[in-house]
Amino acid sequence: MLPRSIAARSTRFSSAPQLQRLSTRCPRTHSLLLPSRIYHSRSSFIAGAKTHKAARWRLPQPATKRSLTTKPLPSTQSRFVRFCYRSAAYCGSVVLITGAVITAFFIYDATTYKNDPSNEEITVSELALHPRRGGPKNLPIASVLVDDDDQEGREMQTQKYKPKLVILGTGWGSVALLKGLNPDDYHITVVSPSNYFLFTPMLPSATVGTLELRSLVEPVRRIITRVKGHFLKAQAEDVDFSEKLVEVSALGPNGEKQHFYLPYDKLVIGVGSITNPHGVQGLENCHFLKDVSDARKIRNTVIRNLEAACLPTTSDEERKRLLSFVISGGGPTGVEFAAELFDMLNEDLCNYFPKILRSEISVHVIQSRGHILNTYDEALSRYAEARFAHDHVDVLTNSRVKEVQPDKILFTQKDEETGKIVTKELPMGFCLWSTGVSQTEFCQKLAKKLDGQNNKHALETDSHLRLIGAPLGDVYAIGDCSTVQNNVSDHILTFLRTLAWEKGKDPQQMEISYKDWRSVAKRVKQRFPQASDHLRRLDRLFEQYDKDKSGKLDFGELHELLHQIDSKLTSLPATAQRAHQQGQYLARKLNKIAHAAPGMRLNEMDYGDLDEAVYKAFEYKHLGSLAYIGNAAVFDINGLNFSGGLLAVYLWRSVYFAQSVSFRTRVLMAMDWTKRALFGRGEYTTCVYRSNILTAPHRHDELLDKTQQP
Ligand SMILES: Cc1cc2nc3c(=O)[nH]c(=O)nc-3n(C[C@H](O)[C@H](O)[C@H](O)COP(=O)(O)OP(=O)(O)OC[C@H]3O[C@@H](n4cnc5c(N)ncnc54)[C@H](O)[C@@H]3O)c2cc1C
Repeated sequence: MLPRSIAARSTRFSSAPQLQRLSTRCPRTHSLLLPSRIYHSRSSFIAGAKTHKAARWRLPQPATKRSLTTKPLPSTQSRFVRFCYRSAAYCGSVVLITGAVITAFFIYDATTYKNDPSNEEITVSELALHPRRGGPKNLPIASVLVDDDDQEGREMQTQKYKPKLVILGTGWGSVALLKGLNPDDYHITVVSPSNYFLFTPMLPSATVGTLELRSLVEPVRRIITRVKGHFLKAQAEDVDFSEKLVEVSALGPNGEKQHFYLPYDKLVIGVGSITNPHGVQGLENCHFLKDVSDARKIRNTVIRNLEAACLPTTSDEERKRLLSFVISGGGPTGVEFAAELFDMLNEDLCNYFPKILRSEISVHVIQSRGHILNTYDEALSRYAEARFAHDHVDVLTNSRVKEVQPDKILFTQKDEETGKIVTKELPMGFCLWSTGVSQTEFCQKLAKKLDGQNNKHALETDSHLRLIGAPLGDVYAIGDCSTVQNNVSDHILTFLRTLAWEKGKDPQQMEISYKDWRSVAKRVKQRFPQASDHLRRLDRLFEQYDKDKSGKLDFGELHELLHQIDSKLTSLPATAQRAHQQGQYLARKLNKIAHAAPGMRLNEMDYGDLDEAVYKAFEYKHLGSLAYIGNAAVFDINGLNFSGGLLAVYLWRSVYFAQSVSFRTRVLMAMDWTKRALFGRGEYTTCVYRSNILTAPHRHDELLDKTQQP
């Protein structure tokens, strides 16, 4: 028999006989043995008993002995008291942890201040302070820089005698290059008028305050620290390829332009592009969206127009004009800006401005082609158009801007039915010019003085990104300012030849049907996305080049067709994606060259061969395109199309969040998105800056008056 207290308690868990059956006596001491587990309910006891038949048996522990006594069990606290105790314990832990974190933060923060001025001895070369003059224009030659001898924390001295690598520009290409270079291989100097890297894909969001500009920029000095590089806030003017000197200009202390030479062993040109004016008159009445200062000006103008539209002295007609926002260019930048502008007007405006504004605002997109986002898959273009139609964003396709006047735009539009071209007028209070890119003045100058540079839109390089016409292996060009000589037709014809041989046919005798042509075109589009534009109407192209009307294209006809497309292609797509890939490629190659060069030179191998010897040619891999279209986004990922509402927007944000340049910018972006959700898009004030071109994004001292109008 079990003692009474056990029997009584065990009825809570199971029946007494059951427990008795499961209990046994020790064969040696004859004391009571109990199962090593205590079960809290009858069912769990039975289940436990079944599954733990092989459970070890053990002698009762002192704790078990207590329960065997006949003393009443100590009375337990009420649930409420237990809850209070637990809550207090949790709160205490949270307060303790938070306190510890805050204290740790303050301790860390305190260590970041520097009270005593630095008294360390600084060595600066005489040549850095008083550079010798020389070169074709007898200008100072900056062969030694003022921070070349810096030590204690910067350790620049170790780089002093390494090969000089000069990088022009601080954009996507240059920054990808800087991030990929080995720290100890080159003496690196970056030259650019912008002392920051700008995350351009999110720039349209910054024009309306969804994101703050500071979240999109990363100071370049921070980026070059890893490679112990130097930065000169200046602009490249010219290059003397024979003497290996870059002519650079910078604003002196009194605002005057000063010129000097910067010597190089290797030069990388990554100066980007400028907006293509397309020869249109009156672009001084337009805004551009290329830089931080452009985004600020746009934001100011939008808010200034909204404020002016609220004045009692503004007539109805004038109000409508002020609230007419025109975007010239239906590519990704124009479309994303239109979408952001619409979001801002739709979501935030009603909360802070008179309701009448909302009903009188109009957003127009003027697009020269048949669809907006015309480099994307047609289904996505149509989706974007449907979205804009839903949002009452007016899309004017087949329209070309003729002239921009201060208060209106003149444009021609082709009537789709009659084919007639009519000229129309659109009153406007704001116009964004976003119609593709063209070459900077600096690149035009270089192209003129080099042999083999025939492209009007970009500097031509070979497939190793070496500038054609410059001494081999000295000068590279990456990003928007350059194009690789692709020879699309040769590439595809090689592919077709291989295909023919595989099928056991003579390539010259091969003929392809319309179906084959479609798959060839698909392949061309994948390999050369910039060709997509010229491969829209496949049926028409087929018809046009099927000269003998046989319903098939023979090798000669196909060659001619592809050659025509090839000649129309200006460059690789002017995208961050391409510039980034080229920067990464060049970094890998320059790292290899740095290690291979000494050995190659010993073996008297021609230095110009080094590129080909150490690394493969550059190959652009198009990873896809995405665009934000106003609380919706479209993805064109190599034929895999995807579009949608807010879920797609979150995905779109995640992609750019992951690509953002640093942890700091990621944190700031996340904070901005949170801020938008909680408080809207921010202050509706305008900013005035001392100079028109704000080159340093963090210079708040230049902010004169936040309430005045520019
Ligand atoms: C608003 C906007 C949105 C965009 N969105 C996307 C997108 O979503 N996806 C995408 O793939 N691409 C996008 N792009 C395109 C992308 O930004 C460019 O293709 C990319 O910036 C090109 O990189 P880059 O290095 O060639 O030149 P850039 O990034 O333009 O940098 C050029 C650098 O050269 C400097 N520079 C200029 N002249 C000189 C000189 N004479 N001497 C020295 N330095 C000089 C400039 O100050 C700048 O630092 C967008 C562009 C814009 C403007």
